[in-house]
Amino acid sequence: MSETSIASLVAHLPSGGATVPVINPSNSKKIYDLPQLTTVDVERAVQSAKAAQLDWQAVPVVLRSQILYRLHDELLANEAKLLDLLQLETGKSRAHAFEETAGAIGAARYYAKIARKTLARKRVRAGVPFLTKTFVDHVPVGLVGVITPWNYPLALTMLDVLPALAAGNAVVQKADNQAALTVLFARHLAIEAGLPEKLWQVVAGDGEVVGNSITDQVDYIAFTGSTATGRKVAERAASRLIGCALELGGKNPMIVLPGADPKKAAEIALAGSFGSAGQLCVAIERIYVPNSMKSEFLQQLKQKTESLLVGRSSDYSIDVGSLTGYNQLQRVQGFVNDAVDKGATIVAGGKSLPEVGPYFYAPTVVTDVKAAARMSRQEVFGPVVDVEGYDEIDTAIEWANDTDYGLNASVVGPKKDALRVAEKLMAGSVNINEGFRASFASMESPMGGMKTSGQGRRNGEGGLLRFTEAKSIGIAAGFLKLPTRGKDYERMAPLMKTMLRWMRNF
Ligand code: NAD
Repeated sequence: MSETSIASLVAHLPSGGATVPVINPSNSKKIYDLPQLTTVDVERAVQSAKAAQLDWQAVPVVLRSQILYRLHDELLANEAKLLDLLQLETGKSRAHAFEETAGAIGAARYYAKIARKTLARKRVRAGVPFLTKTFVDHVPVGLVGVITPWNYPLALTMLDVLPALAAGNAVVQKADNQAALTVLFARHLAIEAGLPEKLWQVVAGDGEVVGNSITDQVDYIAFTGSTATGRKVAERAASRLIGCALELGGKNPMIVLPGADPKKAAEIALAGSFGSAGQLCVAIERIYVPNSMKSEFLQQLKQKTESLLVGRSSDYSIDVGSLTGYNQLQRVQGFVNDAVDKGATIVAGGKSLPEVGPYFYAPTVVTDVKAAARMSRQEVFGPVVDVEGYDEIDTAIEWANDTDYGLNASVVGPKKDALRVAEKLMAGSVNINEGFRASFASMESPMGGMKTSGQGRRNGEGGLLRFTEAKSIGIAAGFLKLPTRGKDYERMAPLMKTMLRWMRNF
């Protein structure tokens, strides 16, 4: 992206204050200086968005949907630019940037399609038929705060911002410093598609300062990031009694069943573990295989992992890209070194690749990770997967569930057996013969985490309705007066009892 294009995107942010340099992870060169907003800037963004929301709420849902359809077309038409930007900011491969972009386009289509029906006034069963009628409306909460991380800036933005807008809200979004350009470009495309400019405000800056300021002023907060930060956001939201959606970390297991083909299972594990260099909340980090299959599976996985092409390229020739910066490299190296110090064995990878670029790390397979190793329970969030053997399937299920997290899980093997195991796994999504894409790509299936992996679900009708307040409208039907005094009740009671008996069966 040219310097002029970057400058025009960043022009949305107030300038003149502090800035931070944003580094291209593939070569560690500075891309540009990003302004860091203050709480005063956030307050201004909030006021501006609130004012715009009043008009937006009155726009018929069908017209809001049309804007989303146009945004869908803009995203498709600008696909190459989006892929370039995602690669520039995150260092991911073209293929993984494409997967993310496809997800964002799917979100625009989905919310454009379902908004009208989902938000329409619904007649519901009355307390006592003929005496009253009842309807339910879904009205916008008002101003929605969205806080997004750096790993999937486009998809995660679309999954929260678009349903919030479709429901009639305004949005103030805090983009992560590392991925603000992608978010600003997505916003630019939404404005091109007809979205009122002030309705979606993007801000950037210190996580705590800007994040707190947003949480303190909005009517609902949708947060995606680590469990540690999610807790802080939840506490702040709770003290204001505002709604809160949390999409947090995972320690996602895959169970390979006895009847599985080790070669196919290894291929599934490869895609499940190393997508976006493992910097993906739903990526597989632990694999449990039958001990009888372990050595063959490990051999297959080693060979496939070592054949992955790691590097940077703006075409599809590369399989896995870079880690997104110095901190990520330190983090991943720290987890692997700690595991090895405590007795784990490296099967593949296990090293940085400075000859490829400053923050590249080889896709890594480890085994015999001891309970004392940090990676046995903590999220690595990198291209590292631990393979362990089991004798009984119940043991594998117990290990899979023995975690504070519950975001995603995978089962590989004969479908019927896999379904039975899936039912016993405590995770918000379970993918069969796939790592995460089967459920992740479905806009109709709710996505989110059990236990400390989050609260609430995005996607599906619920993904839209969480940004609304349900409002019930009850109407006295008119032709039979509702009772007021004791004697009225005495007269009405036999009729009402007949009604209650009748209603049992309808
Ligand atoms: P993070 O929690 O450090 O940061 C996430 C966002 O929160 C950033 O924009 C950051 O600036 C902001 N932030 C920081 N402190 C804040 C505060 N006190 N109040 C409000 N906002 C604050 O997470 P990260 O390291 O950027 O992202 C990686 C984590 O996100 C991983 O744990 C990963 O599993 C998780 N994640 C979850 C999902 C999901 O859908 N469940 C998706 C992507 C990433």
